[in-house]
Amino acid sequence: MNEYNNAIIDTGALAHNYRYLRQRVPSATVMAMVKSDAYGHSMVETARVLSSNDCRSFGVAELSEGVVLRESGCAGEIIIFMGFDERDRAYLHSHGLTPLVFDRDDLGRIADLQVQAQATIPIYLKFDCGMSRLGFKPHAAAALFSDCKNMNLAVQGIVSHYPSSDDRTTDNSELTAQRFEEITKAAGFTDSMRASLCNSGGILYQRHSHGDMVRAGISLYGYYPDGADGRKQDPDNGLRPAMKFVTRILQVKQVAAGTGVSYGHTYVTDRDTRLAVLPVGYSDGYPRSLSNRGEVLIHGCRAPIRGRICMNMCMVDITGIDGVEAGAEVVLMGEQGNDIIDADEIGGWSDTISYELLCTIGNSNARSFV
Ligand SMILES: *Cc1c(COP(=O)(O)O)cnc(C)c1O
Repeated sequence: MNEYNNAIIDTGALAHNYRYLRQRVPSATVMAMVKSDAYGHSMVETARVLSSNDCRSFGVAELSEGVVLRESGCAGEIIIFMGFDERDRAYLHSHGLTPLVFDRDDLGRIADLQVQAQATIPIYLKFDCGMSRLGFKPHAAAALFSDCKNMNLAVQGIVSHYPSSDDRTTDNSELTAQRFEEITKAAGFTDSMRASLCNSGGILYQRHSHGDMVRAGISLYGYYPDGADGRKQDPDNGLRPAMKFVTRILQVKQVAAGTGVSYGHTYVTDRDTRLAVLPVGYSDGYPRSLSNRGEVLIHGCRAPIRGRICMNMCMVDITGIDGVEAGAEVVLMGEQGNDIIDADEIGGWSDTISYELLCTIGNSNARSFV
């Protein structure tokens, strides 16, 4: 991390996106997925902002994240999506964390913990309805509900995950939803349990049923799960990107035509060129695959990246942008003047998706909150 680079988080955008999603699915609880430090936006700050907008459910991947979130003062339900190590199970009780259970042996471990702690440890059951990731098979549902009842386990609900909810044209989501629906009809599923199937793609594009609780991740941070197409097709343009990534120019230099730039001289200037050296490289989460491909904003104009991105630096071409000096603000992601470079555009240049860029940029740089 250096003192020039800053990921600026717009807390107003987080609140706006949360309220927008609530209004898109008025019948369901909107859980905020704040895993991976809220996709780089800071789990603790994001949960604080959303709590003050009446969000009461938060999802994290790991138990250790849940512990940090609870100790930050978060009062809502905290659901742990990747289960727990047996040695850590006491935290479920001490910190009021709710695990997703996908393993039969864990049912027994929770039952033991309930006896030890003299308390109820709420759980959700995770089913695999087509993602081939975590979860019990749907056909096991009736037997599981019955086991949970016999063990006095407090099943709050069931969770599954769409593999392709960002694709509006596939039949696959219908099939996933049918399998999930079957579970809610299995003997033992009660009306007081909550069913949760939708991630952002499910919220925005799978309109048949949203269930009782939806899990908003990328949309909360202002991006559409299908990228720029999704934004174009949303008549409301309802989601506002919450992260901006800025730096300052370290040095400006003039080089002659025919000069090689950066490692390997993969770029050679074809005219007299003014270059700006930026203190941003792949160790700051700025992908090396942007070499000779990406652009940044300086004085509201686009400056193309020249040559390879280094570990801590890169060079951009500022020929023709007047009056640019060392110290000038550079927007790598976000708005400047009348232009905007968002994570989808950067993802297009570097063969990745907004999700990955937000995580790596947000988690590799100093952050501030506005
Ligand atoms: C990360 C995650 C989500 C959120 O997905 P988005 O596409 O970012 O909305 C929802 N459910 C589960 C199980 C997840 O792991």
